[in-house]
Amino acid sequence: MPNLNSPRLILSPEKTNFYFSDFERLLAQLLAAEFIGKELDSAGNYRCFDLGESFLHQITFLGCSPTIYSDADPENRDIFVSIAQHDLIQFAHSSSMPPARCPHCHKTDSNWQQYFQHWTESAELTETCPQCGKKFHFTEMKWKKNGGYGRLLIQIHGIQEQLAIPNQILLDELEKITNTRWVYFFAS
Ligand SMILES: [Zn+2]
Repeated sequence: MPNLNSPRLILSPEKTNFYFSDFERLLAQLLAAEFIGKELDSAGNYRCFDLGESFLHQITFLGCSPTIYSDADPENRDIFVSIAQHDLIQFAHSSSMPPARCPHCHKTDSNWQQYFQHWTESAELTETCPQCGKKFHFTEMKWKKNGGYGRLLIQIHGIQEQLAIPNQILLDELEKITNTRWVYFFAS
């Protein structure tokens, strides 16, 4: 089974609660755009894909680009795409200390792990920012590019933090398909 927790670049709608009614059409369009290629074994509820022929037109590697089209055994390949849509909002973050910020005052808040714990116990809880005193939900915290939320997630595995970014053409394509704006962040 492909390793879903490898370092990855994640694309998701800007509205974290966004749910796309036609998931199969999204996959078909990404296949037609040659962003994804052959389907690999699934992992949990993630559908996994090889890279499509035009993948490198849609993602820019900063620094040295890895060998991404390899003949390696598909089970062990490092770079692949996984896509899923979840019933509940998911959270992912990079292993470097994420600068979680209050959605109101944008000051960093080191209590985020506690908020995360609360959220896993009850998604409805609100927190109170120790700096501005305003209330917010954990899923409203701001992470810059070091973490994020979403129900509909496109993950590109095998990408170290900040080493690749989606091209505008890909973000535009996703927006055209789903009729909502997309953002990206890194997780590991
Ligand atoms: Zn605040």
